[in-house]
Amino acid sequence: MTEIDIMVCGICRKIKRVNMVILGRNICSSCEKEIVNAQAGDEAYGMYMKSIRDLFGSYAR
Ligand SMILES: [Zn+2]
Repeated sequence: MTEIDIMVCGICRKIKRVNMVILGRNICSSCEKEIVNAQAGDEAYGMYMKSIRDLFGSYAR
C-alpha cells in the first residue's frame, strides 16, 4: 500500500495526513503534540480542549 490517506484535521482545519482518527475526525500529529505538551491552565490547553469539546460534544451526551 502506497496510498497516503489525508483528511482535514478536526482541530487546525488543515489538510493533513491521517494521524489519529477519533469518531471519524482526524487529529493531525502537530495538534496531537500540542495537546500532549499543553499544561492544564495554559491558554493553548484551554483552546484545544474547547476545540475537542466542540468536535466531540455531540457524542459526549
Ligand atoms: Zn491539526
